[in-house]
Amino acid sequence: MKLCFFNEGRFGVVEGDLVKDVSSVLDRLPNFRPPLPRFDPVIAALPELLPAIRDAAAAATGVPLASVRLLPPVGNPGKVVAAPVNYVAHLDEAIAEPETFSAAHVRKIQESGLFLKATSSIIGVQDPVTLRFPDRRNDHEIELVAIIGKAGTNISEADALDHVAGYTLGLDMTLRGPEERSFRKSIDSYTVLGPWLVTADEFGDPADVEIFLEVNGEHRQKARTKDLILSVRALIAFASSFYTLQPGDVLMTGTPEGVGPVRPGDTIRAGVERIGTVEVSVTGA
Ligand code: MN
Repeated sequence: MKLCFFNEGRFGVVEGDLVKDVSSVLDRLPNFRPPLPRFDPVIAALPELLPAIRDAAAAATGVPLASVRLLPPVGNPGKVVAAPVNYVAHLDEAIAEPETFSAAHVRKIQESGLFLKATSSIIGVQDPVTLRFPDRRNDHEIELVAIIGKAGTNISEADALDHVAGYTLGLDMTLRGPEERSFRKSIDSYTVLGPWLVTADEFGDPADVEIFLEVNGEHRQKARTKDLILSVRALIAFASSFYTLQPGDVLMTGTPEGVGPVRPGDTIRAGVERIGTVEVSVTGA
């Protein structure tokens, strides 16, 4: 199933060219009182909500997908966990260009660990990426993204995929330069998620899917997740060896070779096999 949020916070199921509004299902969510949970309440409740979501979708007529504005498929993630250089060929290109990729930040992922992005950087695919520093180099990074569905800590690789609610497409936008990685990648709009979440049962094994990205029709990135240094399973195990993963947590799995600059006015076209293709515009501040 493909789940999305759209317009003013409506919840929907995408079927072909239609969106079925299943927002009524959200009435079943618990009414939290402070302190509010550190997980996303919709993703946390998905296992219980799915039968009602299916019923509501079957009863809904649907509106054209092209007529709605898609929002990020996870509304309130507690954290965005991201993998630094996690494809061998991207590591090679980063080592070859130390002035662009700030050598201090280019190490093997097993040594550098993961990093966090501010959740305030998240936008949907129909919002523009807005460059705050257009005179500096700003790069695109296409990534397969796993959305955690079940809390866990010290999760084994064998159990890791049981903790995934589904998958989405992500752009991990990056200001190049000397600052800390999480600072440069947490600019508002620098985490693009969408167009929807494909549930883990429908998506299947993330071990070998194609991802690609073009800018203004020009090929930039194309790779398969089988070339990840740390697989989705390994990333979940690695992340949860340091902190508890919560439902709704966003796991950006890393980008392959071919990263390059974008400028105001550019259009990014990006796709992930089994999820879909999106077009994201780039604007200046
Ligand atoms: Mn990245």
